[in-house]
Amino acid sequence: NYENECPPDKEILGRATWTFLHTMAAYYPEKPSAMEQTTMKSLLSSFSQFYPCGPCAEHLREEMKVDPPKVESRKELAWWMCGMHNKVNDILGKESFDCNKVDERWKDGPADGRCD
Ligand code: FAD
Repeated sequence: NYENECPPDKEILGRATWTFLHTMAAYYPEKPSAMEQTTMKSLLSSFSQFYPCGPCAEHLREEMKVDPPKVESRKELAWWMCGMHNKVNDILGKESFDCNKVDERWKDGPADGRCD
């Protein structure tokens, strides 16, 4: 089928990348060391240089200048990532995501246990 046999388009790449970015933020340390904070900043900066959708990457770099990554804790990074994603959602006319639900969506799953 299309998704498994064809090179990814902007949408498929985007969904896969958000899965990676939000999951990485969800499992970032609660109390990262100075070195871990530096490494995360550097990862996101490199990521925004090489993300293979030119206009997306350019926009991300601009947003990161205005609102640099918050790497002081897991919660701050998860919220920052949610905010970045919402900026893209806004530009694309998609619904804004409630960042209070970011752990439920990307780490803990819903309370009814259907994802366990
Ligand atoms: P996606 O937006 O991919 O979201 C996947 C899932 O994440 C959703 O189903 C929802 O459960 C969850 N989610 C949604 N919002 C949030 C949030 N704020 N926080 C946490 N979880 C959330 N496309 C363009 O056309 N132009 C661009 O400039 C562009 N820039 C991008 C920049 C980056 C860094 C990335 C990773 C992607 C970019 N994309 C861009 C792709 C775009 O964001 C979507 O991934 C794509 O349009 C597919 O959208 P979707 O509706 O399937 O859900």
